[in-house]
Amino acid sequence: GTPDVSAAVALPSGKATLPTGLFINNKFVPAVGGETFQTVNPSTEEVICAVSSAQAADVDLAVAAARQAFKTTWGKHCPGTERGKLMFKLADLMEEQAQVLAEVEALDNGKPVKIARDFDIGDSVACLRYYAGWADKIHGQTIETNDLQKLAYTKHEPIGVCGQIIPWNYPIQMWAWKVAPALACGCTIVMKPSELTPLTALMLCELIVQAGFPPGVINCVPGIGSVAGHALTYHLDVDKVAFTGSTLTGRKIMEAAAKSNLKKVTLELGGKSPNLVFESADLDQAANWCLLGITYNMGQDCTAGSRVYVQDTIYDTFLQLLIKKFEQVKVGDPYDEKTFNGPLVSKGQFEKVLGFIDEGKKAGAKVITGGGRQGTKGYFVKPTIFANVTPNMRIVKEEIFGPVLSLASFKTEEEAISLANATTYGLGAGLHSNDAKQCMRVSGALEAGTVWVNQYNLLNNNVPFGGFKQSGIGRELGQYALDNYTAVKAVHFNY
Ligand code: NAD
Repeated sequence: GTPDVSAAVALPSGKATLPTGLFINNKFVPAVGGETFQTVNPSTEEVICAVSSAQAADVDLAVAAARQAFKTTWGKHCPGTERGKLMFKLADLMEEQAQVLAEVEALDNGKPVKIARDFDIGDSVACLRYYAGWADKIHGQTIETNDLQKLAYTKHEPIGVCGQIIPWNYPIQMWAWKVAPALACGCTIVMKPSELTPLTALMLCELIVQAGFPPGVINCVPGIGSVAGHALTYHLDVDKVAFTGSTLTGRKIMEAAAKSNLKKVTLELGGKSPNLVFESADLDQAANWCLLGITYNMGQDCTAGSRVYVQDTIYDTFLQLLIKKFEQVKVGDPYDEKTFNGPLVSKGQFEKVLGFIDEGKKAGAKVITGGGRQGTKGYFVKPTIFANVTPNMRIVKEEIFGPVLSLASFKTEEEAISLANATTYGLGAGLHSNDAKQCMRVSGALEAGTVWVNQYNLLNNNVPFGGFKQSGIGRELGQYALDNYTAVKAVHFNY
């Protein structure tokens, strides 16, 4: 019989048939050996459907398709204006399909449908348009040399075939952050979505066909990290790997690049980001940002503001404000438009986060609010505040990736900076103060790729994003991300 590369699901807006195959050369196909894995609804703990699971042989086919497209229809064979046009078309289609995409994101990932639609998808559409605008504006320089009969110029050429490995916390948005700049630069793509949330990446492949992209430009190989991800990172015909996920996997990816063909690598990894609240801050606003910092996306956020340090003079007042706000967070059904927090993505993440909560209690930190699961079905966790934390506790040092905040106080600005920087990570940091000079001093001293002053977690498609220290290598978004997907060629010209 015909191998199954689709599945029927029930969504709030009606029944839908979703693609579940690998996507190679603009066609959905089963894995060569028929392997599949299951994806689970984290709100109900029930299996949604089986999805084809790419093996090394499938990755070979996808890379070959991407190479062929790079050599014939994309890269140097397709003008930037044309690439941009296709990308604008894809953005329009994504916008038209926002509701059904958001419903599937809520089903597979657990994030609230409203947030998926208005933020994840809204920002992804804007990201595609932002880079579509760049597609015909990527160029080098002309350089006069000291010999008048010679000149040199640079060209920013597409790097080639890019492997892109993305996590489960923002399945659509991470897809857009990776795919948009790569396409604008003329690269071809083999995308590996997370095995926990493969469904929306495959729906986007349907839109790629509708938009009219040539076969092989974008391929998608859902599969297990240690199998499909491993094959992609060790592949000798992949020129570049762009990765977002854990620091542990990031290390493996650099190792794979080093041991195979020295493919270029960019990494966007974890964090343990601090928020500093100084006594001059607007406390109500600061509490809103600190709340958003750790509860947005259920804390499954690489920039989660998981440590808050508050000046001792305002500690008690601030804590009371924060508790009230934490207790107002609506945790529940992601299909309900009023929900702010759905479940965590998987049983594994749920157990990991509850494990950290137990560990914090045992280590002597005090649960001020939350502190466990919500309900009896689904991977729901109550937004949790730990007070009285000390710098060596695991809950203060390690990335929890859940709605769990550690709170402590500081006396001086110097102490605040040193607490904030006492981490191997350096992704984000926030500071809240109404003293402009203090804002300048502290933002200069914080070791983080993004510093938010009197706000938190807001990103723009035209502003770079990435990590200091062990939070990553390279920058995504903005003009900076074009460097990830271009190679500079210098031409010396004798005339
Ligand atoms: P992960 O790093 O294992 O997974 C991210 C992606 O990498 C997935 O697509 C996965 O299939 C792939 N992958 C896994 N092993 C691989 C390998 N050996 N070679 C190539 N690709 C591989 O993350 P996870 O296990 O889903 O989550 C674990 C922790 O990672 C979380 O608790 C959190 O701390 C962190 N995390 C961070 C981010 C972020 O945005 N910074 C995102 C997701 C997870």
